[in-house]
Amino acid sequence: MKICIIGASGGIGRELAGILAADHEVVPVFRSRLDRDGTVRKVGAGFDDDAALGAAIAGADVTIHAALDTKAKGKDFIPANAALTDRVLSKLDPATCKLFVYFSSQVVYSAIDATRHPAYAESDDIVVETRIDAYTRLKIDEEKRVRAACDARGIPWLIVRPSVVTGPGMNWSTGMVDAMRKIPVGLGGRTINLIHVTDLSLHLKSLIEQGISGEVFNLADKDVKSSDFFAAAAQAAGRKALILPGAITATAGRLMPSTMWFFAHDIEMRSDKLKGVSQHKASRALAAHFIALRADRMGAKIEDILDNARAGRRYQATGHGYSQWFQDAPASDTLSLARYEGIVRHEGQSVTVLAGTRLSALISFLDQQGLALATLPEFVGVSAGACFFTEVHGSSSTHATLYDLVETIRYVDESGEEHESRRDVALWDRLRQRADGITLTEITFRCVPQHYLANVIQWRDETELDAIIAGGYAENAATTLHWFPGHKTFLIYNINPVERPTPDDQAPFLPMRGLPYSLQRLVLKLRMPRGRRVVGKSHEVLGTWRSVPARPLVGAILKRMRPRFRNMELCIPIAMAPAFIARLREEMARGAIAFPKEQGIGIRFSTHAASARTFMWVETSSADEAQLHALADLARSVCGDAFRLHKGKYVPRGIGPEQLFIPRAG
Ligand SMILES: Cc1cc2nc3c(=O)[nH]c(=O)nc-3n(C[C@H](O)[C@H](O)[C@H](O)COP(=O)(O)OP(=O)(O)OC[C@H]3O[C@@H](n4cnc5c(N)ncnc54)[C@H](O)[C@@H]3O)c2cc1C
Repeated sequence: MKICIIGASGGIGRELAGILAADHEVVPVFRSRLDRDGTVRKVGAGFDDDAALGAAIAGADVTIHAALDTKAKGKDFIPANAALTDRVLSKLDPATCKLFVYFSSQVVYSAIDATRHPAYAESDDIVVETRIDAYTRLKIDEEKRVRAACDARGIPWLIVRPSVVTGPGMNWSTGMVDAMRKIPVGLGGRTINLIHVTDLSLHLKSLIEQGISGEVFNLADKDVKSSDFFAAAAQAAGRKALILPGAITATAGRLMPSTMWFFAHDIEMRSDKLKGVSQHKASRALAAHFIALRADRMGAKIEDILDNARAGRRYQATGHGYSQWFQDAPASDTLSLARYEGIVRHEGQSVTVLAGTRLSALISFLDQQGLALATLPEFVGVSAGACFFTEVHGSSSTHATLYDLVETIRYVDESGEEHESRRDVALWDRLRQRADGITLTEITFRCVPQHYLANVIQWRDETELDAIIAGGYAENAATTLHWFPGHKTFLIYNINPVERPTPDDQAPFLPMRGLPYSLQRLVLKLRMPRGRRVVGKSHEVLGTWRSVPARPLVGAILKRMRPRFRNMELCIPIAMAPAFIARLREEMARGAIAFPKEQGIGIRFSTHAASARTFMWVETSSADEAQLHALADLARSVCGDAFRLHKGKYVPRGIGPEQLFIPRAG
């Protein structure tokens, strides 16, 4: 069937259009052909354009009128909406129109004196016995006009009276949850009939497909106590509702417009007629009428963490939230462990910290004990807990990532139980694949004696790059590159152990690998005028970057930037690294992948000595997602599924959890 929906951008119209389109041709008619942001819709007519409205209705077997002109206010409201309905009716062609569906509302029943007649069925006579508002008046009048006009012209009609419509974006769902977040107060002692917009659409589809006409249907589904309704909305907002007693509801209800007369009286909306005819069977729990708001909580004490897990809501634990600089915020609640920090204990070469402890605090503590972590990321502002779930890494010839230093963890599962687990590769691989529901609370790292490292920083010609990727990286304890393809050169950090610093050595400083080429050259020239090697304690050389200056500001800018600035890091098995770099060169040469001339690509090498596996990490940034997607596609075409992506950076859609960590088991 060809079905014209007038009011296709409203909450009901949109859902209806989607559901009908599965089996029918839908012709949408919007209020205006302009979207809210002013862009022109590609399809559909505007109902303010009379000719387009006529054309849309003329070709349709079924016309559904679900539009309401809410822009017309006060005394204009009824005339404006009546005029629209008249225009629609005048354009129906009895020769082609097999059905006209008019969206009325349950509010027509508010005209009947509820003290005398509190249960409403479609057979009731709608006699105005009470004070009614303009919306109620409009719907009562329109029902009569639609029936009269259609009957006079031999056009089959169907009138539907939805009860309280819930679902995404609807006032009684999304709006109510939002209101409950601000003021969690609800009205008790009444009954509300709910229908979810999806069920409503499926019921109407069934009525249309059965060719039912000349009937009125309450599109009603579930009678619920008003106290349960408000409690469920508040729960979705993460609040507990204060429910006012029925006596207060009655008083408040009498002050409300007739549209909400069901707060003034305890009424019943009959739905047996619909349920007897419709092929759709709705079975939706009350909670499913609401979409829970995301809540961001802070887990500063173990009690907070346990309570959060036991609340039974889906959530994702986070550390310091740096990954959200590059990714969209999680859809579920979050529990930040940023303030769950501190050293728990230190025994021999093992140190246990709370999960939110920054690596910077941990390495300072270890230094006082004459200890160090064997590998570090360049940025040590990240949390210890993140090192379990993301492959936090630097360059290293012994450890793939910091995860390899983890001996024991404590974690809280979704039932609120806290567990301790010594390294168990199979279990840990499974835990790491989980996106939510697990909170790591404590983590124990194996340490090494503190030692000195020297970093010899050099500029090299691009022609030497292949030899380093083909195995030259292994000549150092840690090799890091920053490749500037636009300048046919790269920077190399050759990092190796030394006994101690000599007077000729340069103390560690922030070389800020990752700067644009010219600035990078300048910084290194100024900081290392005589090209001396940089020598310092291991953490000073490896984890040079302790914090981000003006972090809240930088974070806010990065998160809000449109288009969003993304940093992405690929992990390529070393055997495939030469082929990947060769293909990347080809793609850059033909312009399929293009970065600004001044921009560099970070390359690090890390080896999991226990399994003799080496990985090349390729890191780059762009505000153009397409460039990063092209890089990920390139990795897939060279490596199949063997490549990985850094979970703490930008992860394109469609990448599964198994692609975000390096399995240690098997
Ligand atoms: C400026 C900067 C420089 C960086 N440099 C490097 C680098 O040199 N090397 C490198 O490897 N990475 C680097 N990164 C990426 C960084 O390591 C990740 O973004 C890291 O995850 C951030 O740590 P976080 O504490 O903010 O974790 P979050 O971003 O808060 O969390 C990261 C992930 O771990 C999970 N998670 C964190 N804590 C817990 C917990 N307690 N329980 C359960 N799940 C948890 C989260 O759900 C999330 O999936 C850098 C990031 C920035 C912003």
